[in-house]
Amino acid sequence: MQGRNAGIFRIWKGVTVSQLIDAFERRFYYLRLSITDVCNFRCTYCLPDGYRPQGTRNTGFLTLDEIRRVTRAFAELGTEKVRLTGGEPSLRRDFTEIIAAVRANPAIRTVAVTTNGYRLARGVAAWRDAGLTALNVSVDSLDARQFQAITGQDKFHQVMAGIDAAFEAGFDKVKVNTVLLRDVSDIHLDTFLAWIKPRPLQLRFIELMETGEGNALFRERHVSGELIRQRLEQRGWRCQPRGRTDGPALVFHHEDYRGEIGLIMPYAKDFCASCNRLRVSSMGKLHLCLFGDGGIPLRDLLESDGALEALKTRIAGGLNHKKQTHFLHQGNTGITRNLSYIGG
Ligand code: SAM
Ligand code: SF4
Repeated sequence: MQGRNAGIFRIWKGVTVSQLIDAFERRFYYLRLSITDVCNFRCTYCLPDGYRPQGTRNTGFLTLDEIRRVTRAFAELGTEKVRLTGGEPSLRRDFTEIIAAVRANPAIRTVAVTTNGYRLARGVAAWRDAGLTALNVSVDSLDARQFQAITGQDKFHQVMAGIDAAFEAGFDKVKVNTVLLRDVSDIHLDTFLAWIKPRPLQLRFIELMETGEGNALFRERHVSGELIRQRLEQRGWRCQPRGRTDGPALVFHHEDYRGEIGLIMPYAKDFCASCNRLRVSSMGKLHLCLFGDGGIPLRDLLESDGALEALKTRIAGGLNHKKQTHFLHQGNTGITRNLSYIGG
């Protein structure tokens, strides 16, 4: 199905409101901004051999000024939420300044980060002071040895201390990303549930996605989120309706638990119908889908403040090319070699 032209939508009611809406009537409030490709972990499903600079990709990630300009353009197009991701975003020396620069824009009400937690204990208080409002920490196992086997880093206790530090710094809720891996998260569901029982964590099980470099692992380890859903429902967990900027997670509650469970099932029917996010890579390309092709270069318009209108026009025009769905079901992973590349 192809609807009307995508782009900037203006409502006249005393003020002009710009929104990014695509041809399938999806509204985009949410930008995921990758600020580096570099990572110090070697997650089996992402960078099993560690980060390796690709050609010129090891230089020239978006600068602080470019980040300020690109987020300003998105904010003027209706973006309310920016997530900083990577690679490992906290490895940037100017990470705290980046948070402050994005948050300085009053239209952006949520500044979130997805982190492997490596720098969390040391940095989280300063990140919060700089304006960070939401935090996702990736934890694939609650067993220190298994955590090391998956991430290549003996940092389980450091990451756990980081989550404690986040609560001490004033976050009232922390989200945890756990990639669903056969024979890991599925068989340890009760351990995860016991962990979140007394803690205000939203534990988000993310179905393993197939990437260009991860086909073999996908065949071996992919397990459907439906399995977790059934087990949760058997244990009395109930699914709640989604908020507008929540994204595609199904969220489950249980009256005996302080924590919640999120389920992200990219292979589920209609997963893409609720898509509300766009992505910009650390090299300044607009990606319409995690599994799209090529990307639309924005960098030439990020050199000065003077190109703001042209930048907004290019971003809005790009939406005309956003497809209705990804093609993961057909095993087509687009240009995505791994998720560190345009920020998972
Ligand atoms: N380094 C940070 C981290 O790990 O939290 C941020 C970037 S990482 C690419 C973002 C998220 O994508 C992480 O939660 C990670 O577990 C997830 N991820 C990476 N590769 C994945 C894959 N093939 N399938 C599903 N999730 C994946
Ligand atoms: Fe690094 Fe995150 Fe990829 Fe793990 S998932 S290798 S922490 S970018």
